[in-house]
Amino acid sequence: ARIPLVAGNWKMNFDHLEATYFVQKLAWLLRDAKFDYKRCQIALMPAFTALRSVQVLVEADNLRIGYGAQSVSVTSQGAFTGDVSADMLAQLGCRYVIVGHSERRKYHPEDDANIVDQVRAVLTAGMQPILCVGESFEERRQGIELEFAVSQVNDVTRDLSKEDMDHLIVAYEPVWAIGTGMVATPHTAQDAAQAIRAHVREGFGQAASDRVRILYGGSVTSKNAAQMIAQPDVDGFLVGGASLDAEEFSRIARLT
Ligand code: 13P
Repeated sequence: ARIPLVAGNWKMNFDHLEATYFVQKLAWLLRDAKFDYKRCQIALMPAFTALRSVQVLVEADNLRIGYGAQSVSVTSQGAFTGDVSADMLAQLGCRYVIVGHSERRKYHPEDDANIVDQVRAVLTAGMQPILCVGESFEERRQGIELEFAVSQVNDVTRDLSKEDMDHLIVAYEPVWAIGTGMVATPHTAQDAAQAIRAHVREGFGQAASDRVRILYGGSVTSKNAAQMIAQPDVDGFLVGGASLDAEEFSRIARLT
C-alpha cells in the first residue's frame, strides 16, 4: 500500500525565523496528537532562505518531518547568477523538490524541456521530484482536462526509467483550484489521479503504477481533506494556504 504524503508548499511565505517557529509548533502539535508518522509522511517546502534553519531544527530534535525546495536549477554549477543547484539542496538534507508548479510555469520561463531537466537534476542528486500538473479553467471548459494533465505527465516521464519512476511523486493541481477556495470535488480529483495512474501503468507497468504517489493540490483544507483522501487514487496533498497555519496543517495530516 502507498503511504500518504502531506506536503506544505509555503510558496514565498515565512522567513527563517517564522519557519523555525512553525516547525517547532507543528512538531509539538503532532506529538500531542500522538501522530503516527509511519501511517502518513509529512513534508514542508520552505523558501530557499529557510531551508538551513529547518534542517538544523529537524536534525537537532530528530523530527520526522521531511522538507524540500520549490524549484531547482537544471545545471549543476557555474555562472548561473541567482540559481540553486540540486546538490546544494541535497546537502541541506532536502528529500523533495517541487517541479513544474503552475506558478513557476507562469512567472518563469519553465517549459516542458526545462521541467524535464529539473526532474533529471533532482533524481541525479538522490531526491524526489514532486511533479505538478493540472489544467486551467479553459481546458476544463473544453472538456479536455484529463488529456491535458496526462499529457503533461507524459511530456516529463516518457524518457524516465522504471527506477526513476520509483522516486517520482505527481501532484494533480488544477490551476483554477489554486488559491481560489474552489476545491475540486473528490470525484474530479479521483478521475484525474486515476487517469494519471493508468498512464503510468501503460508506460512503466503495474508495479510502478501501484507505487507512484499521486497527490491532490488546490484549496485543500481540513474541511475537504477527509473526503478527498477516501478516493482510491489520491495519496495525499500538496497544501498551499492551509499549510501556513500549523494547527490547520496538523489537522489535515491527522485526517490523511
Ligand atoms: P492552495 O492550497 O493555496 O490552493 O495552493 C495549492 C498549491 O498551489 C500547492 O502547491
